[in-house]
Amino acid sequence: MENGMKRWQMFRLPGFLVSLKVPVAILLVLFGVIPMTLCTQMLIGSLRQSQTDSRMVEVQNQCQILSSKMTRAGYLRGDLRDGTMDSEIQALADVYNGRIVVVNKDFRIVQDTFHIAERRFLVAEEVILCFQGESSSKYNKEKHYFAQTVPIYDNTPVKGIEGVLVITASTEEILSLMDSVYDKALFLQLLVTLTLMLAAAAAATVLLRPFKELQRKLNQVAAGALDTEIRTEGYRETRDISQAVESTITKLKEVDQSRQEFVSNVSHELKTPITSIRVLADSLMGMEDAPVELYREFMEDISDEIDREGKIIDDLLALVKIDKSEAELNLSQVDIVVLVKQILKRLRPIANKRNVELILESIREVTADIDETKLSLAISNLVENAIKYNSAGGWVRVTVDADHKFFFVKVADSGIGIPEEEQDRIFERFYRVDKARSRVTGGSGLGLAITRRVILMHKGAIKLTSRDGEGSVFTLRIPLNYIA
Ligand code: ADP
Repeated sequence: MENGMKRWQMFRLPGFLVSLKVPVAILLVLFGVIPMTLCTQMLIGSLRQSQTDSRMVEVQNQCQILSSKMTRAGYLRGDLRDGTMDSEIQALADVYNGRIVVVNKDFRIVQDTFHIAERRFLVAEEVILCFQGESSSKYNKEKHYFAQTVPIYDNTPVKGIEGVLVITASTEEILSLMDSVYDKALFLQLLVTLTLMLAAAAAATVLLRPFKELQRKLNQVAAGALDTEIRTEGYRETRDISQAVESTITKLKEVDQSRQEFVSNVSHELKTPITSIRVLADSLMGMEDAPVELYREFMEDISDEIDREGKIIDDLLALVKIDKSEAELNLSQVDIVVLVKQILKRLRPIANKRNVELILESIREVTADIDETKLSLAISNLVENAIKYNSAGGWVRVTVDADHKFFFVKVADSGIGIPEEEQDRIFERFYRVDKARSRVTGGSGLGLAITRRVILMHKGAIKLTSRDGEGSVFTLRIPLNYIA
């Protein structure tokens, strides 16, 4: 297939693409011309054959009539040699543009219409066979003539063979007749081919009209009219192509819309802390002689908001970076249990601050092909959430397990849980279940979006089971060996 394409491209001038009309028209012409040429050849061939056959039969019949006349006239015995028979033989030879030779029992030629071999002997195989009762009829294809032998019986009741008529006649005349028929047929073929070419060009234009129509619509789309109705029903192919383009455009529109939504979300998210800072600062400024404690409290709030802004920007940058380097996974063999231990060690101070217990349960040793930095970020987000959305005195249990193909990291908590109707949406960027609580906990709303992205990059999957108020379990499953 690919080879075929390459060969086809070899015949293409650079920058020049042949129109589909050309092969369509050529095919139409070929489908007309090839059968026509074959038919003409076959017809002329069989006509030539039947003409030759009927000529041979005709000559043989005439010679048989002549032979019986000679028998009756006792020609070879010289009973009646008044020349009538000779001129009849001569006339017959002339009519068929041939030569008739009469051979007697002694193989001597008694009559030759060419008058060059009289009295000579003709001892040919065909003549001998004919004396034995086997007349022959042979056609020489290369030299275009046929030769026949016909026995001459004697006129006694015994009916012995007393001579042989040897006839040779040329078929050149039939051949030249056929040649002239062939010339006429060729002329006719040319005429039909020309007509076919014109008809094929017209047919190709008509047949490809739906494609032209589709092209016109696509040009409109390319010019920016994305809402152009491009469905073209002419053929199944045009319908399928237009449907495929339609769904591509729909997807593009969705991507464009989600990009716009993202930009507006980002602006909103970035503005929120700034608005809070402004409100805090303004109210401080509006207060005359505010006590130092109040200043301190407000400044702490302002500092928190700045942290929040910083966290949003950091997460945004992380997400953009992951999206940009999608193909670039920095893979290495990593001990997953060690990786999870490090994460828990880093997050323990936060957990302690909230009085949440962190438990690690490793069912078995696991090493896998992963991007350590990215996966560490993904798991950290899950554990951090499990701590954040927990209640004081609660616990977070991280379990590491594996089978022969995948490893699993389960992050279970005793926290507030996630209502069922929200579970599909929490992986969306900036989506939060409880807007106010997230704000207090300082989340950016991007953590789970980053986590899911990283897991998908590793060809893995993430599952959530949770009930409102009854804790949550996030389970991620990643292949032990990365398969591109
Ligand atoms: P955030 O920065 O707000 O935590 P995430 O993307 O990490 O953003 O999480 C999205 C939302 O999903 C959170 O705002 C929270 O409402 C909910 N959520 C995530 N993890 C948990 C959890 N372990 N328990 C309860 N709710 C959770």
